[in-house]
Amino acid sequence: MPLTKFPRYPLAHLPTPLEPLERLSNFLGGPRILVKRDDCTGLAMGGNKTRKLEFLIAEARERGASAVVTEGGIQSNHVRQTAAAAAKAGLACHLALDRSVPPLDQGYEATGNLFLDRLLGAEISFCAPGQTRKELSTRIVDDLRDRGERPYFIPTGGSSPIGALGYVGCALEILDQARRQDIAIDRVVLASGSGGTMAGLLVGFALADAATKVTGIDIDHEPERVADEVAEIATGCGALLGVAGIDRDGVEVVAGYAAPGYGRPNPGMIEAVRLVAKLEGIILDPVYSGKAMAGLLDMIRRGVIGADETVVFVHTGGAPALFAYTSVFASASGEPPLA
Ligand SMILES: *Cc1c(COP(=O)(O)O)cnc(C)c1O
Repeated sequence: MPLTKFPRYPLAHLPTPLEPLERLSNFLGGPRILVKRDDCTGLAMGGNKTRKLEFLIAEARERGASAVVTEGGIQSNHVRQTAAAAAKAGLACHLALDRSVPPLDQGYEATGNLFLDRLLGAEISFCAPGQTRKELSTRIVDDLRDRGERPYFIPTGGSSPIGALGYVGCALEILDQARRQDIAIDRVVLASGSGGTMAGLLVGFALADAATKVTGIDIDHEPERVADEVAEIATGCGALLGVAGIDRDGVEVVAGYAAPGYGRPNPGMIEAVRLVAKLEGIILDPVYSGKAMAGLLDMIRRGVIGADETVVFVHTGGAPALFAYTSVFASASGEPPLA
């Protein structure tokens, strides 16, 4: 196992299930769709950041850190999972949050992930008007150092070469499950934001010499920036494992499903969240997996993804944020698809 040389702090319930979405596949008339349930990683309501944090928290502990510092939006899933990981590891946790997403719901700053961050005991700071979260998190790190603490900084989304190792592990886990279930996977589809998840999957499949395509769906409304970051993190992560650099041209980040912007709802996302809930009993999220599923549905309907393919949708989690978006679903006009 190529990952055993890296320190790892156990946080995730692994392996997560790889299971068929039979009713969704039938509804669409193909392709064969499976879901990788990384919403079920187990730590404080789960999600994709938990796999990354196993490696990041291990590095923090190895360096003798007394606190972790990270940053994100108000409803960041990464921030919530980091707060939980820090709690479990007995480290203080400091969060720098920005208000870049216009609040759509009264609950936006009361419930969902922010409520859980508070419950998990994190120290929360909000950006002043005009202040970036990078500026705020840098100040928090400096203040902690001045007070004699040993802060360990985790970048947005936990997306560093070390964090991406978690998704190298996920790629190998998917291949192992596919082998046991006697399935040949053509393509993996996922939401891509800060890029570490997709980078790790690309490195993992390259490491295993698998031909599996990785299709990222841009949820940031910045597909070029996302693809640049994926390539950069994948190259750094590959270097840790002796895998040659991942070519930027080979990084497929699909645009068209993020509008009007990060964290802001659109009709495709609302349809996708409703459809998967009603057909499969699976809860997607409004910021990432809902938009990624909207992209998958659209690519299937347009024939970009063929009916003969076998596709794995990586459910990266995020459902806690739904509670900060309830009015979006209540007020969305149009018939629910399966009323
Ligand atoms: C962070 C996140 C993603 C994106 O993962 P990146 O590694 O940042 O690209 C996808 N889905 C959910 C639910 C997330 O919280």
